[in-house]
Amino acid sequence: MGKKILVKVNEDKCYLCGGCAGVCPTLAIEVSSSWHFLEDKCISCMICIKACPVGALTYEEVSQ
Ligand code: SF4
Ligand code: SF4
Repeated sequence: MGKKILVKVNEDKCYLCGGCAGVCPTLAIEVSSSWHFLEDKCISCMICIKACPVGALTYEEVSQ
């Protein structure tokens, strides 16, 4: 079983471009007037973290 992660946003860096939400295969990120992570939908693929153009996303590993 792979690791499970919680994705976190640095609100000082995030400019709400929606790029991370656009690449997430399971729609686990919603971006509108703020950034939201839907933990139950996340499959811990890390695509969003690599996709953010300003490095606003980080993650924390959690036990499952
Ligand atoms: S790690 Fe993958 S599944 Fe989870 S929010 Fe990021 S892109 Fe979506
Ligand atoms: S890709 Fe980065 S800057 Fe754009 S909404 Fe996501 S976290 Fe914010």
